[in-house]
Amino acid sequence: MNQLCPKCGSAKFQLSDIDIDNSVYSFASIQCKVCGHSIGITTMENSPATIVKYGKEILDKLEMLEKEIQKK
Ligand SMILES: [Zn+2]
Repeated sequence: MNQLCPKCGSAKFQLSDIDIDNSVYSFASIQCKVCGHSIGITTMENSPATIVKYGKEILDKLEMLEKEIQKK
């Protein structure tokens, strides 16, 4: 069974950006396409994929720092 809007009964939803001032991550509201009622909030990017990406960036920077230290 499809998710229905609790307000108007529509089964069509869309993502809408939410402007949050003090957050470094972007969030989106999952809202009814017909009446705009929000049924939930999600992050715009896939969280596990983002963590893997940051992990790789941290390891790359550590490696770079280690090379710099070994030069001295
Ligand atoms: Zn609705």
